[in-house]
Amino acid sequence: MIPQANPGAGYRALKTEIDAAVARALNSGWYILGAEGRAFEAEYAAWLGAARAVGCANGTDALALALRGLGIGPGMAVATVSHTAVATVAAIEMVGATPVLIDIEPATYTMDPVELAEVLAHPPSGLPPIRAVIPVHLYGQAADLEPIMAAAARYGAAVIEDCSQAHGATLDGRKLGTIAPVSCFSLYPTKNLGALGDGGVIATSDAALADRLAALRQYGWKTHYISDEAGVNSRLDEIQAAILRVKLQHLDAANARRQQIAVAYDAATPLPAPVRRANASHVFHQYVLRSPERLAVQAALRENGVATGIHYPASVHLQPAYQGRVALGPAGCIQTAQACAEVFSLPMYPELTATEVAQICDALRRL
Ligand SMILES: *Cc1c(COP(=O)(O)O)cnc(C)c1O
Repeated sequence: MIPQANPGAGYRALKTEIDAAVARALNSGWYILGAEGRAFEAEYAAWLGAARAVGCANGTDALALALRGLGIGPGMAVATVSHTAVATVAAIEMVGATPVLIDIEPATYTMDPVELAEVLAHPPSGLPPIRAVIPVHLYGQAADLEPIMAAAARYGAAVIEDCSQAHGATLDGRKLGTIAPVSCFSLYPTKNLGALGDGGVIATSDAALADRLAALRQYGWKTHYISDEAGVNSRLDEIQAAILRVKLQHLDAANARRQQIAVAYDAATPLPAPVRRANASHVFHQYVLRSPERLAVQAALRENGVATGIHYPASVHLQPAYQGRVALGPAGCIQTAQACAEVFSLPMYPELTATEVAQICDALRRL
């Protein structure tokens, strides 16, 4: 069976380099916030084209820290989508803010800017003022940022890009993560840039905000042992930073390989291929198809040795923790719920061999 994700293959492909980087970190005698972390932050910022990058413990914390850094907290609402990793919504609640969930555009699975503008103009009654918007660049492709940022600006809401699935993707020739004033990336093992453990990074070109985030991630310390403001512990460790420095050098090639695999799937699938947004590059964190007959399609692929995944099987607003409790926009997340019922993801990682891709394409042709 060809697995849908395979982080172990990602390690084995770079084993010699990664083992050397881990040994270097271990032998340094310094394990938290040291030379490897600083080098990773500098290299990531340079690769992205942002002035600063601040490492932290995971992608959820990256979003929560960014919200706190912008002063978002209790008595404020944050708009995002329900068709995302639950982490996006969890981060909003971590800072004490209230999520409001906007529906998606069905073709790209990303935030509907028209509904966002409507919610900003006429917020649901009882909702605190919307002070931030978190568009999610889902599956490796940009949300429609221009109208989202324009609507947010009209109502004085900050924009934070959730780039956890889109390291290296572009919109109008600009890398995602450099368009809004602050952006967050998960470095979870299966992401396009993945650690071999947890990790996250926040990018910004605002030096004062970067300094504040660097303090917030470690108890609010600017000077050791002195908390200037109340912070948290959300640090990226040296071993993960050393591993990420290796992986970063291979990220562009890895994204190119994902795109090449996507083109092969496009040619083989009888179901409509994923829609690419104009003027954008898609880095295929996931290659997602949809079918009202999902169960049968997944079973047929499995019979031909191809595992599939579902991202995500339940919209956030319909999960037990959130159902009936989180605010929705006027569209009621209808497209979100429908996408959830139909989407499935093919195996997608750069280490898929030519033989495996051919086998997956054969299985697709037989659908
Ligand atoms: C993975 C992911 C996160 C959360 O990242 P963690 O590192 O698991 O905390 C947030 N948002 C999106 C869109 C993600 O895919």
